[in-house]
Amino acid sequence: MATYDYDLFVIGGGSGGVRAGRLAAGMGKKVAIAEEYRFGGTCVIRGCVPKKLFVYASQFHEHFEDAAGYGWTVGESHFDWKKLIAAKDKEILRLEGLYRKGLENAGAEILETRAEILGPNTVRLVKTDKVVSAERILIAVGGSANPHASLPGHELCISSNEAFHLDELPRSIVIAGGGYIAVEFANIFHGLGVDTTLIYRGAEILSRFDSDMRRGLHAAMEAKGIRILCHDVIQNVSKLPAGGLSVETKNHGTLSAGQVMLALGRDPNTKGLGLEAAGVKVDERGAIVVDDHSRTNVPSIFALGDVTDRVQLTPVAIHEAMCFIETEYKGNPTKPDHDLIATAVFSQPEIGTVGLSEDDAAKQYPELEVYRAEFRPMKATLSGRQEKMIMKLIVNTADRKVVGAHILGHDAGELAQILGVTLKAGCTKDDFDRTMAVHPTASEELVTMYNPSYRVKNGERV
Ligand code: NDP
Repeated sequence: MATYDYDLFVIGGGSGGVRAGRLAAGMGKKVAIAEEYRFGGTCVIRGCVPKKLFVYASQFHEHFEDAAGYGWTVGESHFDWKKLIAAKDKEILRLEGLYRKGLENAGAEILETRAEILGPNTVRLVKTDKVVSAERILIAVGGSANPHASLPGHELCISSNEAFHLDELPRSIVIAGGGYIAVEFANIFHGLGVDTTLIYRGAEILSRFDSDMRRGLHAAMEAKGIRILCHDVIQNVSKLPAGGLSVETKNHGTLSAGQVMLALGRDPNTKGLGLEAAGVKVDERGAIVVDDHSRTNVPSIFALGDVTDRVQLTPVAIHEAMCFIETEYKGNPTKPDHDLIATAVFSQPEIGTVGLSEDDAAKQYPELEVYRAEFRPMKATLSGRQEKMIMKLIVNTADRKVVGAHILGHDAGELAQILGVTLKAGCTKDDFDRTMAVHPTASEELVTMYNPSYRVKNGERV
């Protein structure tokens, strides 16, 4: 039998790689994990975690305004960008330390180097040029922001990576894209006092979400003062002689901005990884092709997380890692379950969602009942904030199952988690109806919408 230096060699110290490495090492396997940048990956270092901290930071000016309606007089407030960056960096360093500690405590060997694959069982450590062998290789190298290289002046633009470390907050920013990152950062920058414009190529932002959420969020963002230009793209970015950038759009003339941020999707990090040498197949986007058990076409090589471009979400990568461990090391073949993934957009207001949008449900089921409530949450009464919450349940008439649940409003992300459980459990509308309301909350609407707002039959609203 062949002997190897390691039972498992993990490439990539992000959410998926660290979970797989830690669990395998904890089972007594000889594990090495290589990371070329920082442990924690996109989510911890320059994604979900610092983003959420920025979201909190950007909400305070509204909290200060709202306080007046509740009798508070808030003194003069001042925001210090550099202080926020320093506090955020300190927290990220702490979390990175926890990731490393988890690996070390489990007995995994940490290698601070880029690793490239030489063959089905061999890896080169770029820093030392050392070649090591492993029975199994797991690729969990994630993705990176699409640089949109065909855009003249793209090199003058930032991505979310740089947004976390800008020397100073710009006075104005133009953000291209209409997905999670563009929408979340538009709200962050606006909340921190930056004049913000969002440019999106389609008819409405957040193309993969329910129409009510998309329209409702668009209206709320515009009401705050964020400019949203739909049906448009940036055609050219150039430097202005007096500083700042000139942004030529296709349909809205030329804008000027302190920064331009591109949030046009993320590409799998497969370039230069040695996949060709090992014969690992990738698709037309460069994502590693895997089967239901995260196996590539090379039996000893596996891949999970964003590099496989299945669902680009941290909890999905972690789940795929746990399934990999069950399958490969516990003799319990387990396929990742990508159905009914609850998700949140940390916009302001937030979107929390699970299951099908109304449009997608209408394509799948001949008859739907749609329960929809739009109301001003109690929190906004005394504050005087003109803020609406939208809650929506999509029910398949045939079996009464709730097939989609969508919320726009404060704490929608928190609510999405528990709605995820109800849909996963296959709850029907009758289960919602017989659940006692928690009063007074905004979410009690979810169990008190007794009559359908409308029905959809064969794709037509009736
Ligand atoms: P998304 O896929 O969400 O959005 C990409 C956006 O760019 C879309 O609006 C898309 O338009 C647009 N776009 C793509 N190509 C072009 C082009 N050539 N010209 C103009 N517009 C273009 O990607 P993000 O970069 O926002 O986020 C990456 C991933 O990270 C997401 O898929 C998400 O899974 C994850 N993420 C999750 C978060 C969360 O859970 N809260 C937060 C941030 C990121 P169109 O819709 O028309 O295709």
